[in-house]
This record gives sequence, structure tokens and C-alpha cells, in this order.
Amino acid sequence: MRRGATTPNPLSSSGLDRASAVRRSAEELAELAAHPEARMIVVRPPHVLVADGPVPHRVEVAAADGLLLLGLEDGVATFAVDADEAEAVDAGSAGWKTLLEVGGSLSQRDGSLFAQAIGLVNWHRRHRFCAACGSPTEVRWAGYLRACPACQAEHFPRLDPAVIMLVTSGDRCVLGRQPAWPPTMFSALAGFVEPGESLEDAVRREVCEEIGVEVGDVRYHSSQPWPFPSSLMLGFFATALSEDLHVDPSELDGARWFGRAEIPEAIERGDLMLPGTISIARCLVEAWLQTTD
Ligand SMILES: [Zn+2]
Repeated sequence: MRRGATTPNPLSSSGLDRASAVRRSAEELAELAAHPEARMIVVRPPHVLVADGPVPHRVEVAAADGLLLLGLEDGVATFAVDADEAEAVDAGSAGWKTLLEVGGSLSQRDGSLFAQAIGLVNWHRRHRFCAACGSPTEVRWAGYLRACPACQAEHFPRLDPAVIMLVTSGDRCVLGRQPAWPPTMFSALAGFVEPGESLEDAVRREVCEEIGVEVGDVRYHSSQPWPFPSSLMLGFFATALSEDLHVDPSELDGARWFGRAEIPEAIERGDLMLPGTISIARCLVEAWLQTTD
């Protein structure tokens, strides 16, 4: 399937109403939590508790602020719960799985909800203390604010923007690989955006640092939440102004040009493995394979 402007990427676009106005009402939240059809996604990062299908688990939480509101669907809420905040999670026939293990088999809605749940729980686990004064913070707004009672600072869920880009030149593109990957695995280049940079600046800097190639045109394609622990991946196509590669060994194990026709053939032969279908990297490569410029 071609993904991009019209088809949402995996892990995004659950379709639920995030109901931000409800977040501040303890009464409404209690009512939603008491609804017999309310869903609770239990998270122990990087794992989620799953049954045969997506999970309508009910668990008892130690405190009301342990229920993190993900959204509403036909008036019924789905919450995320940190397993450490839940009273004795009964896994039953369920098991703990990572998003990467089950993501490919989830619906658009459930993949997005799982990503939202893991992202929120990750944030809470890493922000128990005020970044300004070091005091313990308190959960507010159904999980979308941590407030510091000592210095009154308010901390909102944090995202780390990262650019991911397929560098192209005519009908060839550059794929790189990291040392920890299987030997045939290659993917698009990626890196975090730094303070004072536009996204386009970050694309040009990262490509130059990683493979020594100067980039001209930078075109936005699509984005994807990537809650490992808190990235927002912003996907681009970048046009190379030169083709000589000077790979920085501290960044990449290697990189090379692949022809558009060569990629499916190399995959077929077992000489090339692309990242999983839930990743925006895969979406970028597949979108480019279907273009003809
Ligand atoms: Zn503080």
C-alpha cells in the first residue's frame, strides 16, 4: 500500500477523540473509568500486555491519577496504565509483547493506541521529578501534565523530533546500516533535530555528517510517532547534489547507493533486508519505489 499524504503511517491516527476538555474533570474521568466497556492498555515499557487480539483488560489502579486517558470512541474511553501502578495485573492467557513484535498485525487504531500508551508511560517514568528544581511532580489532566508543587513549574509530555530521510539521485537512493543490525539490513538515514535548526537544516546536516553528501532539495513526505522512548519521526526525500559517499564510521557501519530496480531484486535474493513494515523508514522506501522521477 502506498502511504503518505492520504494514507496514515502505522502507529498514527487512531481515529479516537483525544477529548482534551475531559482531561481536567475528575468527575468525568471517574465516570469513564467505571464504564463496563472501558479499555485499559497495560504498559511495562517496552512491552504491552496483549491477548489474542487487542485487549479490553480491566485492571485496578492504585490511584486515580494512574489512569492515562488515550481517547474516546462512541463515548467509551481507552486508558493506558503503567503496570507498576496497577494492582496485581492478571495476564490470563495474555502475554507481554513489544510494539515491534505485534505492530505489524495491529489495526491502524490499535497500533496508534499502543504507540500513544507506550509514549505516555515512557514520559511519566522519566519525568517523576521536576526538571527545574528536582522536587517530585504530581500527575494532572489524566496524564497530560506533571505539575511541581514546589516551584509551580508545569511539564507537558515531551517529544523528540527526529528527521528521517531517503537521499536520492535520479533512480538511485542511499541506504545505510548500523553496526548492531543483521549484515544485510539497510535503512534510510536519520538523526535528531538540534536547537536552532529547521527540519530542512537537520536533514542537510545529518546527511552531510553521516555520508558526506551535500543535499539540495528537501521535500517533506509524512511523519510517525516512534515511542522508543519519545521520538516523532519526520520523513523527507532529499536530493543529493553529489554521489561520492564518505561514510562516518562513528555514525554508520556502511552506506551504499541502490538502484530502484535493484532493491526488489536484492530483497528477493536475500541480499537486502529493509526495516519492518511498521516503520516510516520502510514507508519512505516503498513510496519512492513507486515513483518514476
Ligand atoms: Zn519544581
